Order: sequence, then C-alpha cells, then structure tokens
Amino acid sequence: MEEIKLTKEYKNVWELINEEEKNNILNFAEYYKDFISSAKTERLSVKESLKIAKEKGFTEFKTDQKLKPGDRIYFINKNKNIILYIIGKNDIEKGIKILAAHIDSPRIDLKPNPMYEDGNLCLFDTHYYGGIKKYQWTTIPLALYGVMLNKENKIIEIGIGDDQNDPVFYISDLLIHLAKDQMNKTLAEGVSAEKLNIIIGSIPLIKNTENNNEKDKQKNNLSIKENILKILNEKYEISEEDFVGAEIEAVPAGKARDVGFDRSLILGYGHDDRSCSYAALRAITDINQVPEKTLCVALVDKEEIGSYGNTGLESNFFEYTLLEVFNSLKGEVNILSFKRMLNSSLGISADVTAGFDPTYAEVHDKKNTYFINKGVGIKKYTGSRGKSGASDANAEFISKLRNFLSSKNIIWQSGELGKVDQGGGGTVAFLLARYNMEIIDMGVPVLSMHSPLEVISKADLYMTYKAYKAFLEDFNI
Ligand code: MN
Ligand code: MN
Repeated sequence: MEEIKLTKEYKNVWELINEEEKNNILNFAEYYKDFISSAKTERLSVKESLKIAKEKGFTEFKTDQKLKPGDRIYFINKNKNIILYIIGKNDIEKGIKILAAHIDSPRIDLKPNPMYEDGNLCLFDTHYYGGIKKYQWTTIPLALYGVMLNKENKIIEIGIGDDQNDPVFYISDLLIHLAKDQMNKTLAEGVSAEKLNIIIGSIPLIKNTENNNEKDKQKNNLSIKENILKILNEKYEISEEDFVGAEIEAVPAGKARDVGFDRSLILGYGHDDRSCSYAALRAITDINQVPEKTLCVALVDKEEIGSYGNTGLESNFFEYTLLEVFNSLKGEVNILSFKRMLNSSLGISADVTAGFDPTYAEVHDKKNTYFINKGVGIKKYTGSRGKSGASDANAEFISKLRNFLSSKNIIWQSGELGKVDQGGGGTVAFLLARYNMEIIDMGVPVLSMHSPLEVISKADLYMTYKAYKAFLEDFNI
C-alpha cells in the first residue's frame, strides 16, 4: 500500500524538473529580459506588450464590432493600460477569467518646473513615485523616458540613457568624508526627497559679449541651463515651458542581467510588476485554441500609488471594456445579466511578493514566506497589521486552485509578505473583489522589491507563467 504523505514541504523547482523544463525556464527568461530592458515605463510596457499581442493575432476592438468565439482583441487606455481579451465559447453571463497586473514601477519623476542651475551644474528637480528608499537612487546611472508636448502639441518621445552611446543622468550623494551629520540620521532621512536632484549638464552657453559688465556676468550665471535648453531644442524642438505637464521618468539605466555563477536569477528594474505582467501577457497570447470562457488580461497603471486616476484600475476603463465585450456578445447590456457575469468570474491579481532574503531573515516568518526557486507564490491575503486593507481569498477558491496547479505539475508555494506587524502591502486584488468575483494574489517572489535593481528567479518566473496560462486554459470551479 502506498504511504500517504500527511506533511507539506515546498520543494525547489530545480530538484523536480527534467532537462526539457530546464530549457523552457532558461528560454523564457531570455524573452523576459528583453522585455523589461525595453519596457521601463508604463507607456513603454503598453508599447512592447502591443507588439507581442499583434504578433499573436490580437487586433484593436472597434466600436460596434461583432465579437465571436476565438476573437482576440485589445483595448488601450491613454497609452498606459492595455486590456486583452480572447472570446470564449460559453455564454459570457456564466463568467470570465481575468489576470490583472500593473505596469508602473517606482521611479523618479520630474517636477513641473524641473530645470535649474546651481554651483556650475544644471539639474532637474524631482518628485519620487511609489514607495522607495530614497538613498538607493543616488550614485547610479539613470535613463530618462517619457513624453512631452511642445507648443504645437506635438508629442515628443524622450528615451535617453540606455543606448551604448547615450549619456546617462545622475543623482549625487554626499562624500563620506563630509557625511558626519548625514550618517547620524535615520535611513529614511539620510537622503531626503528634495535631495533627489538629477545632474543633467555643466557647460555654459558661450555668448559674444563685447564688454563683460556686471549684467552680462549675471546672465552668464544662468547660461548652463540655457545651453541645455538649446541642446534640447535642437534635438526635440522643446522649450522650458514644455516641461509643465511632461511625463519624464528617471529609471535605472542598463539592461536586465543574469545573476550568479549558475545564471539562475535575473537582475533588473521593475520586476514589480513587469515579471507578472509579462507572464500574464505571454499566458494569454500563447493560447491558441478557442477557450470555454472568455479570457482577459488587464495591464494597468498607477498601482504603486493606489490605483487612482484614470489610468489606474480604479478608473472606469476596465469596466467599460467588459461592457463593450458583453454588449457585443449579447447584443445589449442587461445590468442584471452583467452582474451575474461578474459574480461568476474568476480573477488573479498577478503581482509580485517578497522573496525570503537570508540576509534579512528577521522580517520573515520562515514557515510562511516565499523562497527563491520554490515556484509561483500564492497569497491568500494581503494587507497589514490585523489584515487591514486585505483582500482575502475564499478557502473554496484557493483549495481548487492549489489542487489544480498541483495536477498540472506547476510548482507553487504559499505564505505571507513578512512577519505580522512588520509592514505590509496591497495589490489590485481589492478592486476586482469589488465586482464580487473570486480573486486571489499569485506571482513571483522578488528580492529587494522597489529598489532600482530587483532580483527574481528564472524558475519562479516560468512557474508563474505556467500557472497563469493553465488558469486561463483549464481552470474551473
Ligand atoms: Mn506590485
Ligand atoms: Mn510595488
């Protein structure tokens, strides 16, 4: 008689897989590294995701389009969200399956009037975005990405710092020799938000002045800024006023790289949450058959600041796309029928979780954490303190999901973000929970989350992709 195992032990992915699966893991990581090396902002994530979607037969939904099973469509919102659907065979009122991930990451934004000159340098004044440890963003090469519009409303796309021949940008830190006062401050105060100033140049504009009087000297004091503006005007046809309203983001320069002698890990900017958004995108675009249920992947902006605004999941846009799809399939929108669809839908909040870091073991409960290489992380609840702000998945749903994943040989683990009362965090899960659908958090464990360069495991990334794809393809309750 076979002995029944009563204990649960999470295993290392690398111990459990065959040669073919190892190659799958390594190959998937190569595509992912390319993706995050280019998709460094929410806008660029939409752009790169769109490329992949188009290659896999997705087309933009047209108002009044008559949808039928097998159709592959997408919606784009303000160039910062992309929502993809594959239409299923079943009556949509019976519910759909949704993966939601975010494509914004912590970064340094520019202030509306960013440019100034001081101490023979020209700098950008900044305002950080998302939860960061400010000191981590100093003394690293930065790239600038984003858009600004000039006086003719022409959209100028900025992307500088990642090409081999590009210059980079830099936030200085105080030399240790003069850091006595700074070193006595807390980590939170050692580098304050107003010290995150980006160096952008130092050569003054040389003017032909006949006699160098006091007035001219004063003018010359401002001339580094003028010189930079001249360079920017020549390259981008912009002037200083055009920074008002611009969306320029300073992000770490450089490509994603392998970490370790065994190349098992990936270092990169924005694993939170582009690892899960890429895995979700690949999961839906790699599906070739016509699914039973309609499938949806929503890649959204502004999660890092609470999902507010018209490009966050709080916006009506996601619901609008559901209504368009529903209306196209049913020929009308009956509100009760629409709510029945939502009640019967299944969702995954595809977001990263904290990976166990042995160097900071004290913040984790080792029995309830996510270890590197132990597979995709399932998280019943998020939140902080006494589960405040948590979206708490239902036992019935989790049970079916874990048994399903195991039946598909998808290696998963479950735990909590960290020790109780140590901190916490949320995801977009609560926004989907509002629709009354079943929803759970599931994603990749990350080391050094929200730092300029985060680390994930190739094995965990691949298991996450497999879990998302299997969920879309086969999962049912
Ligand atoms: Mn996240
Ligand atoms: Mn985050």
